[in-house]
Amino acid sequence: MKTHNFSAGPSILPESTIKNSADAVMNFANTGLSLLEVSHRSKEFIAVMDEAQQLFKELLDIPEGYEVIFVGGGASLQFCMVPFNLMQKKSAYLHTGTWAKKAMKEAQAFGEVVEVASSADKIYNYIPKDYEVPADADYFHITTNNTIYGTEIRKDLDVNVPLVADMSSDIFSRPIDVSKYAIIYGGAQKNLAPAGVTFAIVKKDILGKVDRHIPTMLDYRTHIENGSMFNTPPVFSVYAALQTLKWVKEQGGVAAMEKMNIEKSDLLYDFIDNSKLFKAVVADKEDRSIMNVCFVMKDEYKELEKDFFDYATSQGMSGIKGHRSVGGFRASIYNAMPKSSIEALITTMKEFEAKH
Ligand SMILES: *Cc1c(COP(=O)(O)O)cnc(C)c1O
Repeated sequence: MKTHNFSAGPSILPESTIKNSADAVMNFANTGLSLLEVSHRSKEFIAVMDEAQQLFKELLDIPEGYEVIFVGGGASLQFCMVPFNLMQKKSAYLHTGTWAKKAMKEAQAFGEVVEVASSADKIYNYIPKDYEVPADADYFHITTNNTIYGTEIRKDLDVNVPLVADMSSDIFSRPIDVSKYAIIYGGAQKNLAPAGVTFAIVKKDILGKVDRHIPTMLDYRTHIENGSMFNTPPVFSVYAALQTLKWVKEQGGVAAMEKMNIEKSDLLYDFIDNSKLFKAVVADKEDRSIMNVCFVMKDEYKELEKDFFDYATSQGMSGIKGHRSVGGFRASIYNAMPKSSIEALITTMKEFEAKH
């Protein structure tokens, strides 16, 4: 029986990413060496790094004046690097979940942090809409996809201060207008690569405006000036990321990804909205994530959740338990998730409904 990987992260990757990475572990670029034992300064690996940065720019149509870097530390280190590099006195944050809250907490060490709006009152099941960003904020930070709660901001916001976005779990899921952002960052392990590498798309002229000393490794300029080779980059994860980028291109790029992601998520949300037992956690369709679909059992069927989880597991559905702060279920259906796996999940839900 096929196992369908609905895990929130680390999560499903294209088959070609896994296969090509495995091949390179045995013999990297015909060097007769394993990818795990080659120098990051070898010409073969430098070519990988260059191509990954190039494809990143091509696929997201990144304009002049921006650089793509690959670093370690996860998105969680970016929570601190962003204010370190950009915040002089004041920053503004949209509080849409646990990750946004963690990002805010780091910024508080650097000055005044304005929470422009929060959806904490309803366990983050919506995206706040009416808020004002202070004109004197050094930047405004958003989390475009709230991995845990299944909400997503799927348009590029117009704001009057530099916009910074954590796109850990929706990068490459849709076309974005990079020119509207100062920094876009994310851990790779949701839609791109195995854990270990973090990407950042940085608008260069946003840097160098703070007075404080920035530790070398936390200064974006270090990584920009050294082509992400200041120190040893996470070689394996960068290689795997390149394989995913090639796959995205083969699929038709981010516009094709978005089309498929909408089709896949519509299929699942439509089933849930018309179901007898299940209901979606996020009611407002506009706020629903096309990457993480959160659902619960309706109040009158609540006691069946454990039974459904066991049944779904027996049918090969892996990683569908909701985050402990939300409960219920979460199907993470990232780029690499085929439509057939979503159909299999729906079949499983239908079968369970038929029995109850
Ligand atoms: C997973 C996740 C993070 C944390 O990423 P790490 O790389 O583990 O630090 C941050 N933000 C979002 C939106 C996430 O989904």
